[in-house]
Order: sequence, then C-alpha cells, then structure tokens
Amino acid sequence: MFNIGKECTVDLDPSQFKSLQEYNNKIESGKLTCEQKACICGNKSKFRSTSVTYDRYGIYSPIVQCLECSLLIVGEYLDEESLINFYINDYRPIYSESYRTPKYIFECQVNQGHNFIKTLKDVNITTSGKTVLEVGCGPGGILESFKRSGANVFGCDFDEDFMNYGRKHSIDIRTGQFDSTFEHTSFDIIVLSHLLEHIDKPLDFLSKIKKQINPGGTLLIEVPGILELHKGVMERYFQGVHLYNFYGDYLRFILESFGFDVLYIDESLRAVCQNNRGANSIEEIQNKLKEFGKNIDSHYLYLENEVRKYNSGLNFYFYKRQLINKTKALLESLKLKSFVKYIYKKVLK
Ligand SMILES: [Zn+2]
Repeated sequence: MFNIGKECTVDLDPSQFKSLQEYNNKIESGKLTCEQKACICGNKSKFRSTSVTYDRYGIYSPIVQCLECSLLIVGEYLDEESLINFYINDYRPIYSESYRTPKYIFECQVNQGHNFIKTLKDVNITTSGKTVLEVGCGPGGILESFKRSGANVFGCDFDEDFMNYGRKHSIDIRTGQFDSTFEHTSFDIIVLSHLLEHIDKPLDFLSKIKKQINPGGTLLIEVPGILELHKGVMERYFQGVHLYNFYGDYLRFILESFGFDVLYIDESLRAVCQNNRGANSIEEIQNKLKEFGKNIDSHYLYLENEVRKYNSGLNFYFYKRQLINKTKALLESLKLKSFVKYIYKKVLK
C-alpha cells in the first residue's frame, strides 16, 4: 500500500515536482555533492543499514544506525557546503506546497506559540517581560504569541520572504546565524522549534546556544520524535534534511550534559529545560553517549517493524487519521465544521 523508505510518498504540486527534478540534476551533474555523515557521538565508521533508504520525496538519504550509541541517523547526505546551497536554493521550493505561504505558516506558528507558552506555564515559567530569541523563526508566528504574552521578542533566519512577513508585524527578525546577528546578547528564553534535527553538528551548536542563555534561563526545544513513529504520519516522517532521529532519553542526556535541568520532556518530542550549571566538554558528552548503545536492538527492530507494518497497511493510526480527515471534509462541505468545533470546545472540554 505504501513503499516508505523506497520512493516518494507525498503528493507534490507541479512546482515541487519541477524543483525536485532540478535537485536531482544538480546531484547528477555534481553541482551538489554528498558525503558519509558522522554520528553525534563522534562515530564515523561503524553503522548498520536499515530498510529506509529514500525520504518522503524519494531523495536518497539512507537511515543507518550508529553501532556505538544506537542513534538512527541519515548516513549519507549533502556535505556542509552543498547543504547551505540547498537551503538557500532548493529547500523551500521542494518542501513547501503552494498553500504554505508566509501568512499560512505564520498563523500555524501563532497556534504553536500559544502551545509552547502553555507548556512553559505548566512548569511555572512565565513569559511576560522576558527576552525571547527564536533561532530559525521563519515568518515569526511563534514570536508573535510570545510578544502578545508580554515578552520582548527577537528572531533570526535566512529566508527573506518569510522574515519580511514577520517584520511587518513589528518583530525584530535579523538575517543570518544567531551568534553573529545577536553577538554578545543573551536571552531569558531561547526557542529551537524543529531546528536541531537539521543541524550538522548539534553538540557544537548547543554549546553556542548555551552561552547565550542567561543563568537560570530557559531553553525550549522541539524536534520530531522517532519513538512516536507508530502514531505519526509515517509517509511524511522521513526527510533527508532531518539528519538525526532523536528520542526522549537521548535528548534529555544531551541537555543535562550541557548543564540544563530538564523540567519537561515528552516523546513528541518537546523539552523545556533550565540553564542551571556549567556544561561538560563535547568530548565527555560524546563518550558518555555511547552508553545508549544498550538501545541498539530495540530501536532497530522498532523502526523496521513500524515501516513494515505501515507498508503492509497495518497501521491503525493511518485509518484513524483518514476517518478524521474525511469527517472534517464532510462537515466542511455541509458548513457544519465551526458549529461542531464550538460545541466541542464549550461542552466537551
Ligand atoms: Zn552514535
């Protein structure tokens, strides 16, 4: 029914399809080049392959398992220079369906921002009067929510179209990396929403982030969690740009090693942590990550089983989601959606 891990599993707009072809041409002609990737733990050579070799766009980006710390990572993908090139020229045209305009993304982000603020509130972190930085903020909708809650907000990213949309909402969004755009500035709260899994060297990156969070300040991270594959939208999960597949214990260990106390974490995967202590060295962290080698068989089998089940049509959540989507579409067509939403909010919650 599906062929996850072997071919494109999402519907593409004609413009996405064209951009994907251009990408493939760049790979064939050598304009973009790939390399073998190292694991976060530092392992460069000991890996085993899995059945996932192509991502949701049919781009070759094989998932391999590190035989030292057991993390499932993308084993071969664009090298550093090509990756930057790809993000500037190819990423949005391939990854964004035409309806995902800056306005659309901004509005989705505003909801996500409310959700983040609620998670912070649950662990007694307030936002009013705080300075908040989001790295990779896109059009800045998450920051808009923080701004409405009384925070002073800042963001940085690379896509000018997206950033200009947020700038129109009076959000201070700067072009470039956070450590150059906000040099010598530190913040009460830093937000990394679906960013860390894209970063080539996440430990180096977090070590820089740590320096820009005030003592006692907060780091909020959200990444896709691989241990929710059985619940997730499997046909959309695998993306070559997601270099690492994190899970709760692994991310918690990294954060604690950097001197953060983890106040909240789930497998979705969202984490809130507080900057309370000094960090271990990257070398120490890498050595200790090898203790996660204990998960090697369980995580490998989990991935293989879930992909096999999904491909043979045995994933319950897929049918549940289909049913929800069909019901939504029916209510929409009968113009009953907002009425049902209202009843749900007022009566059932
Ligand atoms: Zn590893």
